[in-house]
Amino acid sequence: MFNRAVALMDLPPGLEEKIRVCNSTYTVRFGVRLRGQIQTFTGYRSVHSEHMEPVKGGIRYAMGVNQDEVEALAALMTYKCALVEAPFGGSKGGLRIDPRQYDEHELELITRRFAYELIKRDLIDPAQNVPAPDMGTGEREMAWIADQYARMNTTDINARACVTGKPLNAGGIAGRVEATGRGVQYALREFFRHPEDMAAAGLAGSLDGKRVIVQGLGNVGYHAASFLRDEDGCLITGIIERDGALVDPRGLDVDAVRDWIAKHGGVSGFPGAEYVENGALVLEQACDILIPAALEGVINRTNAARVKAPLIIEAANGPITAAADDILRDKGTVIIPDMYANAGGVTVSYFEWVKNLSHIRFGRMQRRAEEARTRLLIDELERLDRYLGDAWALRPEFKEKYLRGSDELELVRSGLDDTMRIAYQSMREVWHARPEVKDLRTAAYIVSIGKVAASYRAKGI
Ligand code: GLU
Repeated sequence: MFNRAVALMDLPPGLEEKIRVCNSTYTVRFGVRLRGQIQTFTGYRSVHSEHMEPVKGGIRYAMGVNQDEVEALAALMTYKCALVEAPFGGSKGGLRIDPRQYDEHELELITRRFAYELIKRDLIDPAQNVPAPDMGTGEREMAWIADQYARMNTTDINARACVTGKPLNAGGIAGRVEATGRGVQYALREFFRHPEDMAAAGLAGSLDGKRVIVQGLGNVGYHAASFLRDEDGCLITGIIERDGALVDPRGLDVDAVRDWIAKHGGVSGFPGAEYVENGALVLEQACDILIPAALEGVINRTNAARVKAPLIIEAANGPITAAADDILRDKGTVIIPDMYANAGGVTVSYFEWVKNLSHIRFGRMQRRAEEARTRLLIDELERLDRYLGDAWALRPEFKEKYLRGSDELELVRSGLDDTMRIAYQSMREVWHARPEVKDLRTAAYIVSIGKVAASYRAKGI
């Protein structure tokens, strides 16, 4: 995918190679005493590009973690950050572990030990390398990492900025948990603002009533599906999970399915919907929008030709293999690529990092000032009302809404929305202006590699 894009760019060969390679990967093997014996774990932190620092990217806990995967995901972080103008280089970490096999206390011991190994080599540091949640990790793990860093760097006033995705009470930011799913929603809304782009996928109209199939009801898939359903009128006609899939052409109740999974460990047995044991088959069912929000490589050369969705938005990292990408492009499927589609997470991570460095919550200074100014306007309108009679009276709900200054959550959503709109427009411009650019993914690579190259050039490398 990288090669296809650089073939259409005019980069000096040395620079092209500099951008392609992963700068460094640190492998750590450490022992933790658990259940009366020492268990050894293998973890990685890769740094793909340091054209901007700190470098940024999540830490995943999964059995499939390996060096190649971590390096590829670190590269994706470089391009993702460049595309959405988050001022970071790209990095990624992983620990080969099945987190479901350990209780909370054990996970804390393991996480703290892993964090210790990375912190002591500056691979977690507010100025150099800032991890975040990824598959298998969340707010809880980030809070342990932040605390571990603070214990080892007692005089670092910016300690909290060493990791993002923390809980609110440990220096997190409102809206980070929902951010990636929210970003997927904003990406689709922006796509549906461009009739030309919709036409490329053979779609028309608005998101209202569109049939959506989502794979993976984890943090990203759940938020994307529930926002699209509750706020945009989409029908979630299929949900694919580990143990099978649910299908209902009238639309599934995403919250009810999520509660069911939490109680029963899977989707099987959920009342009122068809259960399909071989969930992968549902990826191939007819729908308007397919949202792979789970693992890598789920759409590959074995099933790509049978995927019917005209529009796929990659909420997961790398859900479509390079071979499948070719097959789908030839079929005319429009793919909104991962580097853009799931960049909402790192975008709000950026806001969290800025909040931590500024040591103040967004909106704290201006919220009441904003309210006071709108109050002035409302008072004046109400004074005029008295002359104009009842027909002109301000509706109470307007008054209430208009008067309220923006809180942190609203500011975060507004920043995210703006970011997703601008990044989409930068991709589509290249897509439409250059006939040799056949898809949004190539366009996304061209935009982001161009930005990374510009930054290397400016630094004089
Ligand atoms: N792990 C997420 C990703 O793949 C978030 C990274 C971050 O917030 O730094 O984009």
